Amino acid sequence: MTRATKIVATLGPASSDPAVLERLLLAGVDVVRLNFSHGKAQDHIDRANLVRAVADKVGKTVALMADLQGPKIRVGKFAEGKVVLEPGAAFVLDAVRTEPGDVTAVGLDYKELPRDVRPGDVLLLNDGLIKLQVEAVRGEQVHTRVVLGGELSNNKGINKAGGGLTAPALTAKDMEDIKTAMAFQCEYLAVSFPKNATDMEMARQLAYVAGEATRHKPAMIAKIERSEAIPQLEAILKASDGIMVARGDLAVEVGNAAVPALQKRMIRMARELDKVAITATQMMESMILAPVPTRAEVSDVANAVLDGTDAVMLSAETAAGKYPVETVEQMHQIALEAERAEDISLETDFTNKKFGRIDQSIAMGALFTAHHLGCKAIIALTESGSTALWMSRHNIKVPIYGLTSQPASQRRMALYRNVRPLLMPKMTDRDAALAQAERLLVERGVLKPGDTYAITCGEPMGYPGGTNMLKVCQVG
Ligand code: PGA
Ligand code: MN
Repeated sequence: MTRATKIVATLGPASSDPAVLERLLLAGVDVVRLNFSHGKAQDHIDRANLVRAVADKVGKTVALMADLQGPKIRVGKFAEGKVVLEPGAAFVLDAVRTEPGDVTAVGLDYKELPRDVRPGDVLLLNDGLIKLQVEAVRGEQVHTRVVLGGELSNNKGINKAGGGLTAPALTAKDMEDIKTAMAFQCEYLAVSFPKNATDMEMARQLAYVAGEATRHKPAMIAKIERSEAIPQLEAILKASDGIMVARGDLAVEVGNAAVPALQKRMIRMARELDKVAITATQMMESMILAPVPTRAEVSDVANAVLDGTDAVMLSAETAAGKYPVETVEQMHQIALEAERAEDISLETDFTNKKFGRIDQSIAMGALFTAHHLGCKAIIALTESGSTALWMSRHNIKVPIYGLTSQPASQRRMALYRNVRPLLMPKMTDRDAALAQAERLLVERGVLKPGDTYAITCGEPMGYPGGTNMLKVCQVG
């Protein structure tokens, strides 16, 4: 059995070696995340090229997700790479400090912090592991007292409890990074800390302008990680192609306890609006240092799968951990097992659902038919991938094969739950295309003589949004 839920892995020092990357892809990574909070433009371009080359080598469809840093308030770098903060110690966040940090003070990427905080505010660093109380703001320096201490390393994020930081969603750095990401034609562009739909529209606009020469249009992912974004969720979803449940920053802003229910709501809403959802942060955190996950992590990954997430994401586990490959292997096993327990509720899904579009109705018809007939596969001949996306918004045990002539669509589909993307030559003759699709799946061992499958296509062939035909076939 193949896994329906996809795995997103973040690249970093632990995973940028070609041999490790190859093992990661073979272990089950579907989407590679390039985190623009770290590294230089050229590093990301080199890594993107490496991912494409290794994916080609192992014959795997892999999407690239460029994740913009956003206005996340981060500490600068330390002389030793990290320090250990002791509870009760004084620690200064200094917006004008240029030298590397030490145990008493560190510089800031976000120069506005001194104007955004006042005495009594609580600042949380490194996803809430470190807690600082603001005692005074003196000019460009925020003087704090360590409440919860621990290790603090280069460029860790800072949040203010309760939210309310004034930084705009897209920084000057993000605008430059969008150009870099578009230069390697990322399939997904993740925007950090959007407050509303306008932030997403603006980012999309910038990406489209940067991609004008190549006509490349990435799918936009809104990272939901600010309290302000929660009441705007529906509008943000409609302005995006998907969301990331960015539990690290989100938990700090809304409080840990609110996150599990929000995760369920976000995933449900994304699916209802035909958008994708990625569940992120600390999913296998302990595997940064240990070769096995905790029981709680196993349950967390399984529960995200049961919530209906398209993908589960790894951050430091694969970027900087000791066991990147083992982490992916474990995640793969957990997802696979959880999927066996998932409910199929197509009938309830369809109750009261109205389809206004021909292509979408055909997609739903294919799902229903394949489910009730017990088909071996559903094949969607799709230029843009949208037929496969609609199909993948509902749980079904039948695998969906998205066949496209567009390599960019093929890679984009790598994130869709239960969709296996394949490339097929562009064809104008319908019967030839149907025969070719069947041959492709027979060659891959998916279909055998006697198997039934449902296939959708558009006539005339080759126009995005043109799906208007469903055929149920038996392999001869
Ligand atoms: P980050 O986003 O890793 O870029 O901070 C994810 C999160 O906040 O959970
Ligand atoms: Mn974040």
